Amino acid sequence: MRILVIGGAGYIGSHAVRLLSQAGHEVWAYDNLVYGHRRAVPEGRLIEGDLHEGPLLTRTLKENKIDAVMHFAAFAQVGESVADPAKYYQNNVVGSLSLLEAMRAADVRKIVFSSTTATYGVPQQIPITEAEIQKPINPYGYSKLVVEQALADYTKAYGFGYAALRYFNASGASPAGDIGEDHTPETHLIPLVLQVALGQREAITVFGQDYPTPDGTCIRDYVHVDDLGSAHLMALDKLAPGVEIRVNLGSGRGYSVREVIDACRRVTGKEIKELVGPRRPGDPPELVADASLARRTLGWTPRYTDIEEIVATAWRWHEAHPQGYGK
Ligand code: UDP
Repeated sequence: MRILVIGGAGYIGSHAVRLLSQAGHEVWAYDNLVYGHRRAVPEGRLIEGDLHEGPLLTRTLKENKIDAVMHFAAFAQVGESVADPAKYYQNNVVGSLSLLEAMRAADVRKIVFSSTTATYGVPQQIPITEAEIQKPINPYGYSKLVVEQALADYTKAYGFGYAALRYFNASGASPAGDIGEDHTPETHLIPLVLQVALGQREAITVFGQDYPTPDGTCIRDYVHVDDLGSAHLMALDKLAPGVEIRVNLGSGRGYSVREVIDACRRVTGKEIKELVGPRRPGDPPELVADASLARRTLGWTPRYTDIEEIVATAWRWHEAHPQGYGK
């Protein structure tokens, strides 16, 4: 198929671009490079553009005879979304609607959308199934939920077929070690801990150790970025008019912040200084996926379930690229 990957120069998008190409698809990345990296995309495969540029999107879809879209482009920082919701509603909601309209104009009706566990808010039950009520607790979660709903409505009214894939904590890097996570500023646990291992940071601060969990630190479900990519490939195969797929993508195993830091110590062989700070607002104590629906609907099983293996792939990238993609 001919696929346009929106946000294809970003962390998860660039890994998907690679897996799609390896699977024999014809792939282009469409990215405004606000957070994406030119070097994360193979030569000649990047189209620079913004979600809000409707005519450019329509032209890109038509000229490249695109069959399906994968939409990774979004702002994704919870705290920032609380401080500046306009930014999130503009980009994540208005931008996504602009993409859907361009798709209608170009008669492209298949889309895989990056959704998130943040659409659930504070879950009633762990592990989280798709039956959990979606009640976000921040603008980021709402911005993703609105798009999920728009996709459902477009599917009924306009013959779209979509998959909304609800990621847990995306982590790791391509085992090849040449693409990986590079955010400015970095806010995610694993890259921050590895920056301490590299000597770029003094210490890692654990955000709260008074949670109702065995070691008092938050538990998350870390899912490898290539496992996310493989789920996208499988979802793509299922898309047809009227198809609606809404599934969780997690490894199904939870690790506490302290367990992650310990795994980083084992993988890197470095000491890694740790401090304890206050809780970060908006952090639920535990988020772990029940990913059995993804297994049943897509035939997806994550290949990485061990945190050490995930961290090892991340470390390969960070050690070889201490400055990320550079300027
Ligand atoms: N975390 C932490 N210190 C940090 C960054 C993150 O203790 O410097 C914790 C955070 O509170 C959460 C977990 O690590 O419980 C994962 O956070 P991250 O920001 O990587 O992903 P999120 O769960 O917010 O999507």
